Amino acid sequence: NLHARDVSAWFGRRKVLDRVSLDMNAGTVTALIGPSGCGKSTFLRILNRMHELVPSAALAGEVRLDGEDIYEPGRRITETRRRVGMVFQKPNPFPAMSIADNVTAGLKLTGTRVSRSGRDELIEACLTRAGLWKEVRDRLRQPGGALSGGQQQRLCIARSLAVEPDVLLMDEPCSALDPTSTRRIEETIAELRTQVTVVIVTHNMQQAARVSQRCAFFLAEDGAPGHIVEAGPTDVIFNEPTDPRTADYVHGRF
Ligand code: ATP
Ligand code: MG
Repeated sequence: NLHARDVSAWFGRRKVLDRVSLDMNAGTVTALIGPSGCGKSTFLRILNRMHELVPSAALAGEVRLDGEDIYEPGRRITETRRRVGMVFQKPNPFPAMSIADNVTAGLKLTGTRVSRSGRDELIEACLTRAGLWKEVRDRLRQPGGALSGGQQQRLCIARSLAVEPDVLLMDEPCSALDPTSTRRIEETIAELRTQVTVVIVTHNMQQAARVSQRCAFFLAEDGAPGHIVEAGPTDVIFNEPTDPRTADYVHGRF
């Protein structure tokens, strides 16, 4: 389980997130929704310690993964990276690397060792979980770049899963994809839910309604930093939100 408490973020002097608190639980897909620029991607990057890679970036608050503060001094960034995977808007497999090697690429970074037979099993298991195995089982040596966009995105999901993350963060994973690929990824998310804590940013309200059990609505008003207006069960956010701004946003009146 992942818990953010009073998370604020800055780029230089500019504050872009203001005291965001959110619980993201195993077995639950949490969707982050809200207009462009309200800090959704920044918040995701804080959850896997990518935010600190921006030189001007600063951070306050607390992020706990299974009770442990990921920003505790002395804690290794690589450990958080392994436990909290990320899938981006634009699929980014290593294009010249084979499909099989793409799946296991993360293991080198984390220093995980597997035997050759273990490796083959892992590749099949991860590609199966990502909903790609049947399509690529006969072409595992082909380069990742030879796949379609939707297949590349599922390859990236398989690559994320290979290091056995506890959490999978997805930043608009389908916005570059056609409807069929989008459906495939949504099916994959539904199956992952029982095994991994999934947090997904999406601008597609139908998608948020389809894939998530909880929703957090972010807003940055008139140059103010982004904050969560309202978070709760997805059906409540869509059908009977407390805040009128939430209703306006989810019904496309923004
Ligand atoms: P979108 O829906 O368009 O992806 P978002 O909700 O993901 O938007 P962020 O990308 O988190 O929004 O951006 C939040 C704010 O932080 C924006 O005002 C943006 O300009 C600013 N910002 C993001 N990244 C940086 C950066 N590397 N340096 C400076 N400012 C940044
Ligand atoms: Mg974004």
